[in-house]
Amino acid sequence: MSYFSPDYFTARSRWRSVVSRLGYRLESHEIDAVSPINEPLTIDVALLGNPLAHKTMVISSGLHGVEGLFGSAVQLALLEQHLANEQLPSDVAIVMIHTLNPFGCAWYRRWNEDNIDLNRNFLVADEIYQGCPPAYPQLDSFLNPQSPPSKLEPFLAKSLGLIGRYGMSTLKNTLPVGQYQFPHGLFFGGNARSQTNKILTAHLRRWLGLAQQVLHLDLHSGLGKWGTYQLFAELTSDSPRHQWLSQYFDHERILTLDPGDLVYQSRGTFGHWCQASFPDLTYDFLLAEFGTYSMLRVLKALRNENRAHWWGQPEHKSYQWSKQELLEVFVPQSQKWRRMVLQQGVDLCLTGIKLVES
Ligand SMILES: [Zn+2]
Repeated sequence: MSYFSPDYFTARSRWRSVVSRLGYRLESHEIDAVSPINEPLTIDVALLGNPLAHKTMVISSGLHGVEGLFGSAVQLALLEQHLANEQLPSDVAIVMIHTLNPFGCAWYRRWNEDNIDLNRNFLVADEIYQGCPPAYPQLDSFLNPQSPPSKLEPFLAKSLGLIGRYGMSTLKNTLPVGQYQFPHGLFFGGNARSQTNKILTAHLRRWLGLAQQVLHLDLHSGLGKWGTYQLFAELTSDSPRHQWLSQYFDHERILTLDPGDLVYQSRGTFGHWCQASFPDLTYDFLLAEFGTYSMLRVLKALRNENRAHWWGQPEHKSYQWSKQELLEVFVPQSQKWRRMVLQQGVDLCLTGIKLVES
């Protein structure tokens, strides 16, 4: 039986029924947004293990909507294959968060109900929801055309033209970095804190209970080599925390904030916010990113789906194929890919549990 579900509601109901069957504490936080069917959109949280534990592993999925169908599968497999039969160590608890962006997952979008990329929405302290990378306004008309997508468009030629004109490095430091100025555009970080941000601000501390030490694994897909993963850590390689993480995790797969490692510097990341919000705890955050297709194919899919969302008609073919392609680039249908990432995803969770216990 596959752990991958075809849609958000199936994923949510399977996950919730396993959590309930295993007797774990479960809470649901509803998002106020339009649902595609007559069912609420919720962020669901399971609290596993000793509620008085001092060491906690957080395993979260679906910050980027549609990617939640991958993260959910890993969480479900971990529950069914391991946590159903094996006791957690006595001083370890797990906070499992299912689908941080239920709207995006339900509608096959990466963005949330306000078109927000949630991994750009977690600004801290005195940061403000304004501004954008210098080249973004010039790229807006290419990135966010105000028309439905078309298969006839010469996307590749246009992209290569832009790469020639601006250079790959400028594009990498412009597109995915996060912008706070174009609310219909790609990689929009929001004008204010999102609903997901507020729910985490209100409850994450309580879910962590008495934890002194937290290891957080946030599951993502869509960047990197097919079927393999990288771990993005919010630290530099000379940090003692890097050494600690490298004891159990493959250090070659840990990407740090060192200039040589950094793919691009984003604002408002969830990981940075988690670490900044709990300065009294030892809080390690790893964003696990599983690769699928080339960056250009993923960008093309994001751009088409965003056009269909804002300017297309749901009954139109271009709306349907753009949603389907978005799902494919983040959660490929390939059984081989699914087997590979599921195994590695579950292994990462088990490694994390061992490491946090050590
Ligand atoms: Zn992601």
